[in-house]
Amino acid sequence: MQEEGVIKFDLDFSNTTPVPLEMLRELNAWRRILWQLELIGQDPQRYGGYGFGNVSQRLAPFDAAPGQRAFVISGTQTGGRATLDASAYCSVTAYYPQRNRVVAEGPVRPSSESLTHAMIYALDAGIRVILHVHSADIWQHAETLHLPVTDPAVAYGTPAMALEVERLFRETAVRKKGIFSMGGHQDGIVAFGATAEEAGRRLVSHLAMAYTII
Ligand SMILES: [Zn+2]
Repeated sequence: MQEEGVIKFDLDFSNTTPVPLEMLRELNAWRRILWQLELIGQDPQRYGGYGFGNVSQRLAPFDAAPGQRAFVISGTQTGGRATLDASAYCSVTAYYPQRNRVVAEGPVRPSSESLTHAMIYALDAGIRVILHVHSADIWQHAETLHLPVTDPAVAYGTPAMALEVERLFRETAVRKKGIFSMGGHQDGIVAFGATAEEAGRRLVSHLAMAYTII
């Protein structure tokens, strides 16, 4: 069992004012639903009591070069909160997966899984929202649900995970499906899309499919 919530990358962080909540309304609404579904949360019985799950959204300009595609992500250890305000989000302004380095600014430090989000944004300019949740139901049935799965030997938040995500985009239909399972990160599921609604629907529909299997 790996520790959730521990930042494993080299973080260059500046404390600044938050981005306007106006920009995050749809993302924040879906984040609230995911919390209600217990796909994001904090529970003494799960993952050593660490908060789990995080959401992000790409910032304009959307045609920026890979590595410079800035995005807003929920802050580290915000999983326990039912709703978030702007002060719980942080902007990742640059990232270097090979060097395991993230540059971020905001009122809170970025999620420990920022590097995985960064890698997905770098791989496809059409992806605007990423939702990372923890669902035992989807995760345990990933194979039956035909989900692409990252190598179980690879831990979350590492450069190796970023490379695994790159492999999924190269070797599987993940781009079309918009959802994959993190084999080495217990219950870890990532969904993405052009909008929060698209990513959220993909997640919830796979949860429904998982429930039909059980
Ligand atoms: Zn996680």
